Amino acid sequence: MVSQTEGAKIRMMRLILTLIAGLWSASVQAIELKSVRSSADQDSSRVVLELSGRPQFSSFNLSNPSRLVLDVSNLSMSSLRAITTIDDSRITRIRSSVRGQGSRLVFDLGGDYRSNVFALGPKGRFPDRLVVDVVGYVAGEKASIRGEPSAEPTEPPVEKRDIVVAIDPGHGGKDPGASSYGVIEKKVVLQIAKRLARRFQSEPGYRAVLTRDDDRFVALKSRPRLAREAGADFFVSIHADSFPKNKNVRGTGVYALSLRGANSELSRWLQNTENADDLAGGVDLGDVDNDTRQVLLNMSMESAIRISKQAGQSVLNDLTDAGRVHKKQLGLANFVVLRSPDIPSLLIETGFLSNRSDAKRLSSSREQEKIAGAIFEGIKRYFEKSPPANTFVAWRKQNAGKRVVIEVKRGDTLSEIAARYNLSLQALKELNGLRSDVIHLGQKLEVPLSPR
Ligand SMILES: [Zn+2]
Repeated sequence: MVSQTEGAKIRMMRLILTLIAGLWSASVQAIELKSVRSSADQDSSRVVLELSGRPQFSSFNLSNPSRLVLDVSNLSMSSLRAITTIDDSRITRIRSSVRGQGSRLVFDLGGDYRSNVFALGPKGRFPDRLVVDVVGYVAGEKASIRGEPSAEPTEPPVEKRDIVVAIDPGHGGKDPGASSYGVIEKKVVLQIAKRLARRFQSEPGYRAVLTRDDDRFVALKSRPRLAREAGADFFVSIHADSFPKNKNVRGTGVYALSLRGANSELSRWLQNTENADDLAGGVDLGDVDNDTRQVLLNMSMESAIRISKQAGQSVLNDLTDAGRVHKKQLGLANFVVLRSPDIPSLLIETGFLSNRSDAKRLSSSREQEKIAGAIFEGIKRYFEKSPPANTFVAWRKQNAGKRVVIEVKRGDTLSEIAARYNLSLQALKELNGLRSDVIHLGQKLEVPLSPR
């Protein structure tokens, strides 16, 4: 019994982890580059490629000029726009090209450095990673000088993680949910959920995981657990309603966990040690007695409910702009999937299938995109206001408006630099008082502090 459950759990996790690649490309094995981070000290430089799946790679060195060549046979080229130059004294430039079904990355090195490439599997909040270490002292330098010698730290010492949003398409498999006018709930909510996942995936600082990405049955109780295992900061369940008694009832509704439901759930949780242990990932309970445990869980749950409500209000506002809202007030409900004492959770009823125009709306790809967009904006707006600690979004907020000076490197163009720093060409020119697009090697330019 245990092994079967474990097996199902592992299969589901694998599903979640491989999902994102599947969203964009027909090839199941292709992986995407999610982000590039780099850091350096006086001994070595490290570049970390965050990937959507396990990389298949090989590497070798070339000299005259000194280069490290890294072939990743399953890395999709379309995601490589993110790599350009990094500010590093050992690695002068990273170039990329298509190689067969995969990609080739060439690291131009500023000297004869040793290099080491290795893969790291997903851990905690981090996805699959490919790590490139370039080791050796920089000639003529005691320590590597990166950027301006100003006291302003440009990179926090800790890793900036993504905010993880777990998206839960309701029903699935043997459980179709509501259906009317030929529209089936499990089908449309999966489509909306995938659109929502894509929005978060393409937004810097966010990552999406789905509790299911095809037509399969997932037990209600395992949905919040899957979110917790993926390290989710937020859980959003997507549904469609039905009210056959009155076919005029239509519109969307947003529900957050109610304190009453939460409290009864909390006592159930506490009775089950396994559940309480499960929570340790979200709340550090440590070695505490039952009373303390209760107090800590209560605090965690109250904060989850508070966040759910605030984010729910934000989503509701955006849905109101996007179309008809059935309930203008945020609903508080005791749904099974909303009973996560540690993860803020929302359930969104995207419309009433029993209403003909809602059924039509929910099956239109344009309207689905609109709904996904409204949910995305609502959740994002909440997190931009109150980002969790140690996230890229929190770091960007702290550093909003700060600028750094970069030096133009060989091969740089003004439009490339603008794209790298999320600026329009015009904005970059204005920032630096430039009249033309011509830049020269070594020229200093001011840019916002938050390249990604
Ligand atoms: Zn439903």
